[in-house]
Amino acid sequence: MTERIFRYLREQQPETPCLVIDLDMVEHNFRRMRELLPAAHIFYAMKANPAAPILTRLAGLGSRFDTASRGEIEIAMATGVSADRISFGNTIKKERDIAWAYQQGVRLFAFDSEAELQKLARVAPGARVFCRVLVDCGGAEWPLSRKFGCSPEMAKDLLRKAKAQGLDAYGVSFHVGSQQTDLEQWDKALGQISQMFFALVEEGVDVRMVNLGGGFPAQYRAEVRGIEAYCEAVTRALVRHFGNRMPEVIIEPGRSMVGDAGVLQTEVVLISRKSANDRKRWVYLDVGKFGGLAETMDESIKYRLRTPRDGTRTGPVIVAGPTCDSADILYEKTDYRLPLSLKVGDRIDILSTGAYTTTYSSVAFNGFQPLKSVCI
Ligand SMILES: *Cc1c(COP(=O)(O)O)cnc(C)c1O
Repeated sequence: MTERIFRYLREQQPETPCLVIDLDMVEHNFRRMRELLPAAHIFYAMKANPAAPILTRLAGLGSRFDTASRGEIEIAMATGVSADRISFGNTIKKERDIAWAYQQGVRLFAFDSEAELQKLARVAPGARVFCRVLVDCGGAEWPLSRKFGCSPEMAKDLLRKAKAQGLDAYGVSFHVGSQQTDLEQWDKALGQISQMFFALVEEGVDVRMVNLGGGFPAQYRAEVRGIEAYCEAVTRALVRHFGNRMPEVIIEPGRSMVGDAGVLQTEVVLISRKSANDRKRWVYLDVGKFGGLAETMDESIKYRLRTPRDGTRTGPVIVAGPTCDSADILYEKTDYRLPLSLKVGDRIDILSTGAYTTTYSSVAFNGFQPLKSVCI
């Protein structure tokens, strides 16, 4: 389906670096997810790519939106999304931003601590709140562990308190880590929360929702299972731990909605060696860590590269960005190989770059402009 993107790139030859997003593919990804998990409410995690045409397309399909800040809520509302379709899903919010969102009509909030609960009780009376539980993120290529969530025991206590303070203790959430490659992680996480969930119900705290977060994959270098296998694993885990007492289910896909729908075209600026008999060439592109490829940090996300000379003999390379910061190396330890005939000026396509790129690009470090993107 990215053929549309390649045709656009051939015909338009946009100034690089440039990210091109295929909106039909975003739509396809959304429809597929809804088909595979028909009972779940889909809240698109906006931070993956908040481009207005993406939000408009998803909103038209009935998507809801997971937001992290006043800024994201404003962007969603500016594209016509009503407040009742927005979740303020960050567990770290300023009280005045909670109050503002509540005034706009947002009624769904995340928290994972006593202090955040107090803010919600003060300025968002009666709102639906869900407590994020800390689960371990083994298998994730971009873990979201440690920083968010609390133990299931603490979550139980906090949800009790939420009810006592006039909030609607709606349920619990977790995130198994982004680009999760281990399909058993949802089962593990649900196993960790189901006990406390039912314990609360029995006490009369009306928890009735489980938010499964994101974690669904995009296609990088390593082969991953299809989205069908993921949704099957999630469904199996829900049935196993909740049986015929199925809660309302929310999912918050970001990466899997937009990742594969984007291609970032870049130009080779320089090819060099550090000494005459250096085995590895250095290939410098016009985009790097500061131009949107921040997820190459620790070489975590390994993008697929496509060159016009593919199919010819290759040699090992170190791939780096154009800025004057030596942290701006994309791949040095990972075995990347590019054609020996590669030339300065060649255009390289970086595949599956629709998620977590434009928003990660710096304002203009070294005078390099933020990553441009077009939606087609
Ligand atoms: C980032 C994030 C997501 C999206 O995760 P993906 O792995 O990109 O799908 C979902 N929920 C929350 C709370 C997040 O912070």
